[in-house]
Amino acid sequence: MTLGSESVDVLTIGAGGGAYPAAFRLARAGLSVVMVDPKGVMSGNCLYEGCVPSKAIRETAEILETQRRFAHFGLTGSLQVDYGQVVAHKDAIQSRRYAQHAQELANTPNLQLIQGTARFLDPHTVAIDTETGQRNFHCAHIIIASGADVFVPPIPGAELCLTSHDLYKPEPVLRTLPKRMLIIGGGYIGLETASFFAAFGTQITLLQKGPQLLTGMDREMVEMLLPLLSPNIHFILNAEVERVEATATGRRLFYQQAGTTQQLEADVVLMAVGRRPAIPAGTADIGIEIGKRGIVVGPSLQTRYPHIYAAGDVNGQVPLFHAAVRQSLVAAHNILGGDQPLDYADFQSVPTTIFTLPGAAYIGLSASQAAQQGLAVRTGSYDFQEDSRAQILEAMGGGIRLFFAKESLRLVGGWVVGIDAGSLIGEIGLALSKGLTAYDLAQFADQHPMSAEGIGKAARSLF
Ligand code: ADP
Repeated sequence: MTLGSESVDVLTIGAGGGAYPAAFRLARAGLSVVMVDPKGVMSGNCLYEGCVPSKAIRETAEILETQRRFAHFGLTGSLQVDYGQVVAHKDAIQSRRYAQHAQELANTPNLQLIQGTARFLDPHTVAIDTETGQRNFHCAHIIIASGADVFVPPIPGAELCLTSHDLYKPEPVLRTLPKRMLIIGGGYIGLETASFFAAFGTQITLLQKGPQLLTGMDREMVEMLLPLLSPNIHFILNAEVERVEATATGRRLFYQQAGTTQQLEADVVLMAVGRRPAIPAGTADIGIEIGKRGIVVGPSLQTRYPHIYAAGDVNGQVPLFHAAVRQSLVAAHNILGGDQPLDYADFQSVPTTIFTLPGAAYIGLSASQAAQQGLAVRTGSYDFQEDSRAQILEAMGGGIRLFFAKESLRLVGGWVVGIDAGSLIGEIGLALSKGLTAYDLAQFADQHPMSAEGIGKAARSLF
């Protein structure tokens, strides 16, 4: 059944980080706004199966690791966790945040969330397939913010593998701690999950197709991180997974390495080989360009139609929640500007953190990327070995590297490996996005004894 056509100023396809910041801003500005999402709740995959639930588990694992470092203080007991309780904690946070978002939605006039799946009928008409039928909306502006989905490669037995969805969604599939876990994929999701479960006591074997882990990230940073990870993670590189089979008690995995087939057994196998943009049906039919990474947009987030925007993971530029939020606001500002761009997303200056234990984080250019671009840099260094907070926490591995343009000493990038990496990169990122120099950073009296004082010390290492 198709209900009659309705009209709206702005429709967002999806209700995640690429959608709702714009939706709220535009609704507050007096425009009528509809968000569409099959989940029927706001916050997208970040809260459903991504950042928030995975970090709820990560922080529990980190507390456990920290306690173990101080076991010599006479902490008694086995220092083990009941994984069912960890999951219950994660689920409780998700419920709490869904309730919070429902309240925010209820308090905002001009804005409604429709549970359904959106598809394009023409550049101004979107059909929403709901449980009770199809609703067609004529839209003055559209923001495609449909995010990305877990990619499962066509390996025989792939359906026997868990994905991050099965680990982190509300009431997840995995509720008891496996003794042995195989992880396919050496990207950030594979490594983070390996780290958390290794902390809980699971024996991890991680298989990576190529010769390197965290492909595409700065080698110097990765080389500093890897030795700091749990010794309970066993890496097998250059391993091409052939198939997965069920056994009486778990899973058997076959992989090719150097021309021979080998096999491994475990209780569970996690497939973590990446995510793919979720392109709404009809997008290509109306002539919107879809590239290798996702929907093609420039810094204004507009597609070839000035009134149709693509924000967040679906454009594949920087598939991270905070990037989606910023992009969503850029789209909102440009809609308020009558689809004449007046705000632009900076795809470079976005902090990225690998939330392993310990973590690593980066922003902007690395030294090798700068060299590739012919940009001469000077490097400011600080090692956590000499850091008071790192010493207090007995977590002295890693350090901070800041890259400054050689002549102007303007910050062009940086990374952190070790304690507080995910927090420190925020301060470094702000300095980068505001065009600060080594002089500015060197002059700022960051707090002692916090790890952020290392940022100033790294800058001062140049003088
Ligand atoms: P981002 O952070 O880029 O916004 P998310 O993955 O967090 O991405 O959120 C995207 C949301 O879009 C998800 O909740 C997903 O269910 C929803 N979605 C995906 N495809 C469609 C579609 N065709 N119609 C409506 N919503 C969609």
